Amino acid sequence: MKRYAFGVDVGGTSVKLGLLAEDGTLLEKWEIPTRRDRGAAMLLPDIAESLSAAAARHGLGREALCGVGLGVPGAVTAGRHVAPCVNLDGWGGDVGAALAARCGLPVSVVNDANAAALGEMWRGGGAGERNLVFLTLGTGVGGGVIVDGRLLEGVHGCGGELGHIKVRVREPEPCGCGKHGCLEQYASATGLVRTARKLLEASARPSALRDAPLDARAVFDCARAGDALALEAVELLADSLGQALAAVSCVCDPEVFVLGGGVSAAGAILLDAVAAAFRRYAFPPAEGTRFALAKLGNEAGVYGCAKLALDAAERGTCAD
Ligand SMILES: [Zn+2]
Repeated sequence: MKRYAFGVDVGGTSVKLGLLAEDGTLLEKWEIPTRRDRGAAMLLPDIAESLSAAAARHGLGREALCGVGLGVPGAVTAGRHVAPCVNLDGWGGDVGAALAARCGLPVSVVNDANAAALGEMWRGGGAGERNLVFLTLGTGVGGGVIVDGRLLEGVHGCGGELGHIKVRVREPEPCGCGKHGCLEQYASATGLVRTARKLLEASARPSALRDAPLDARAVFDCARAGDALALEAVELLADSLGQALAAVSCVCDPEVFVLGGGVSAAGAILLDAVAAAFRRYAFPPAEGTRFALAKLGNEAGVYGCAKLALDAAERGTCAD
């Protein structure tokens, strides 16, 4: 019998859900709002109800469903416990067991960026590979590390937290984590804008960025048009990424680095600059490691969550 799984990606404003077959076919995707009126207390009941309605719509009984993969915006330990999520009013705890009790299916819990990494390995920019590192470059920087087909989650749920690799020794401004000099401070959309602003303030050099509202897209657009100051800002972003990924490569030596998130919409100009910077820092045998753009956009999490549930069913490791 063909097997199916649900992928559920919990975000601060909406929950993305998908029903997928074991061959990666997406049967349906939909969203429900993340109700915040009672401090996220309705999150699991709403999800359970929505999953049960979807199973009924597709005529799928318990025997055809492997389980649920639940992606959450926080640190996950032992595949089910979630540390209090800052952007979900402190929601957390043993959410895997709580959802399993409500929906009658095995539930595997995963950090959302790690889920996106699995999704990109299964059906996206890293398809066909079993060793990859995924980075999501958005407001912050998240990541996921997959070694031999399995996520490296670590003891504290911090495996893949690539945004907090230190790349600068002296940084006066603090990162969101409270420490200083994290990759996220330079390689996120926020970081790129901050770098461009500093360059603009440091001199009177002419730049088209002086006339436009300053955001990450404007910096890339101007860089593509040959604006020297914008090119320098992109180069500084690429340099910090290259440095951090060269360090990552010394730990897990992946086949491919997959870049996703809003900043990756910049495309080739970003990919080429990061690959060149990586080559400057990498241990020589790893210099040729491939770089690719993510392909699944904000659906990567749903794909990865479903993949996790299918893998857990195969290994018999999910929390019933
Ligand atoms: Zn940090």
